[in-house]
Amino acid sequence: MPQVTVDAIEEVGTRTVALELETPEGFDAEPGQFLLVRATVDGVEETGYYTLSSPDVEGTMEVTVEYVPEGTLAPWLAEREPGDEIEIEGPFGDVRYTGDGDALVVAEGPGIGPAVGIAERAQREGYDATVVFWGEEPPHRTRLDALEDGGATVLLVGSLDEAADTLAAAGDATVYVFGFESFVRDAKTVADAVGVENVRAESFGAR
Ligand SMILES: Cc1cc2nc3c(=O)[nH]c(=O)nc-3n(C[C@H](O)[C@H](O)[C@H](O)COP(=O)(O)OP(=O)(O)OC[C@H]3O[C@@H](n4cnc5c(N)ncnc54)[C@H](O)[C@@H]3O)c2cc1C
Repeated sequence: MPQVTVDAIEEVGTRTVALELETPEGFDAEPGQFLLVRATVDGVEETGYYTLSSPDVEGTMEVTVEYVPEGTLAPWLAEREPGDEIEIEGPFGDVRYTGDGDALVVAEGPGIGPAVGIAERAQREGYDATVVFWGEEPPHRTRLDALEDGGATVLLVGSLDEAADTLAAAGDATVYVFGFESFVRDAKTVADAVGVENVRAESFGAR
């Protein structure tokens, strides 16, 4: 269970922070995979999963944490400072992007983290990237703008039905979904309705 040092922490949206962590020696992972974070908060051991939001783990890696005030681990993570250490395990998860083709990512809430990480990796490798975000004010706005400037498509939707045409035009792109349980279910339903099979989805659990 490696202890990793917090390199930087930045507010990237409403109640959402990006934590940049020093990558431990020998650690390898791809965007879309997640870490288990373990911490003692108010005397109680807490664990949670956080998905990589950086395009790679070279030197440092990033996770994006959305928190609610009544939460436990997530607000604790949002209070970390550079130089603090946190305990992680992993990486975990089969849903990952290895830079091997066009990518279309459908996300809500903190799912925007892996969405930008995957899209940045795709763009860097010379592939098309599309990010569909459910909501009006996505975290990581600066990185989404840079992705758009680089030719990526970024679509903000108020309803997943608005993503149907984009999904129907996915072609050879691998379709990823990141978000909480009901969102993942709804996104799969819309994808299925327009004939997209093999959706690679990671559910963040029930809200
Ligand atoms: C595979 C996987 C990957 C995940 N990746 C991420 C990730 O990249 N980023 C991320 O932020 N989370 C991610 N999660 C969710 C994360 O692990 C925690 O569940 C979340 O941070 C809640 O932490 P907490 O201990 O502060 O809240 P808890 O103490 O568990 O919850 C307190 C109360 O607040 C509610 N609540 C907690 N968080 C939210 C929220 N964001 N919105 C609305 N209600 C909430 C809970 O339902 C509960 O009622 C992932 C989960 C899984 C299973």
